[in-house]
Amino acid sequence: MCGVFGVVLPGGEPTDAASIAALGLFALQHRGQESAGLAVSDGDQLMLYKDLGMISSVLDERRLPSLRGQIAIAHCRYSTTGSTVWENAQPTYRLGPRRALAIGHNGNLVNTRDLLAQLTGGRARLPASTDTELLTALLADEPAADTVEALRQVLPRVRGAYSLVVLDERRVIGVRDPFGFRPLVLGRLPATEAPGASALWTDEDASAGWCLSSETAALDIVGAEYVRDVLPGEMVILEPGQAPRSVRFAEATPALCVFELIYFARPDSYMEGRNLYEARRLMGMQLAIEHPIDADLVMPVPDTGAPAAAGYAEGSGLPYREGMYRNRYAGRTFIQPSAGLRHRGVTIKLNPLREVVNGKRLIVVDDSIVRGTTTKRIVELLRKAGATEVHVRISAPPIYHPCFYGIDTSVETELIAATHSEPEIQEFIGADSLGYLSIRGVLAALELPYERFCFACFDGHYPEPVPYDAKSRKFMLEEAVVGR
Ligand code: SF4
Repeated sequence: MCGVFGVVLPGGEPTDAASIAALGLFALQHRGQESAGLAVSDGDQLMLYKDLGMISSVLDERRLPSLRGQIAIAHCRYSTTGSTVWENAQPTYRLGPRRALAIGHNGNLVNTRDLLAQLTGGRARLPASTDTELLTALLADEPAADTVEALRQVLPRVRGAYSLVVLDERRVIGVRDPFGFRPLVLGRLPATEAPGASALWTDEDASAGWCLSSETAALDIVGAEYVRDVLPGEMVILEPGQAPRSVRFAEATPALCVFELIYFARPDSYMEGRNLYEARRLMGMQLAIEHPIDADLVMPVPDTGAPAAAGYAEGSGLPYREGMYRNRYAGRTFIQPSAGLRHRGVTIKLNPLREVVNGKRLIVVDDSIVRGTTTKRIVELLRKAGATEVHVRISAPPIYHPCFYGIDTSVETELIAATHSEPEIQEFIGADSLGYLSIRGVLAALELPYERFCFACFDGHYPEPVPYDAKSRKFMLEEAVVGR
């Protein structure tokens, strides 16, 4: 996954773009917790700071005042190519013969080996082992006169998922791959609210500040209003004191990751014109229609299962209760990088509310089962707290196939639905019954056509073909890194 944010302020003295970018990024923390970073330009020079850890510990008040400039990008990371080391934190930075560049990337490329071969015949040594580092090197070394032209030259050779924020000395460019796998939105900071706004600007758009963000929720936090999505196959160029410019670099074949709407993005964000809390509530109502069962109460797996559980309760007419406390200071289980950490994460994170669940027949609603280990632990904990029946309902279809576009489930054997039948999964997790929402049910809740989305992890139809070598890709660039 990963979260990206970019900001351009209107003009005048070097200002506080870094603080706005950090604030925006803070709203995207759920998209990646391994590292955070920020790059800023004062119109002349790029400065960058990044480190492993959560955003609040990396971009704190000791760092931000020294990052002065009018334009900035920020990134939080969840790894899909390359290990969790400092070098792989983003934004990336590279000083090429014609330009200095910093890039924040959400997504995952699928032709990384081909791209490496294009970089001095594959003999290039990279400072880090991510697909983003490779893309940054290709763009910085591209002989085209400016960054927009370099993007036009390089992007047609790049395959896979990429929503980018690109920073050079003078501008921020938002880029979305032709499928638009990952979201990217454009927002506008009103001129009166944009710190550093100059009264000299008369054109309304030129006097505004502009933002790019993975999700609309981050626009709300910085006081920007949503303007529109960056379109698949489009780049949006933001420069201080100018209205945004749009350049199409490829034909759009939209395939937004449906998992963003089901689970990953914040419920207060909007995608495809849908508020995600509402979308998930409606998915829960569909789930109640598809998999009804008699029980005493409906409860969510906190926090992400809550909207669908509310919808299931509404659809079934059963009472809704919160049956578990979630420790909000523990990271999201699904995006911890190693199996060891994931296991620890479940046990420290969730605690049943005995008063609510004791002696009750429960319908427990969650938004996905990936490996099955978390759900199994939850069922165990609820039974130990006195639940007499535990019926598991999932507001997504079973995940049969790995994702190569930005979620780290590349090994099919990690996916319980790929290796077990539904009765076997029910037995493994120890539930009294199990029901998944169908693809048809997801679409009915969204009231949108199948063709708008990627459903590949549910039905195996990959919009962008995935080469064989990309299927074992996470650490494929390690050998190209300097000093390893
Ligand atoms: S394969 Fe699944 S997780 Fe990956 S982009 Fe497609 S729908 Fe999203």
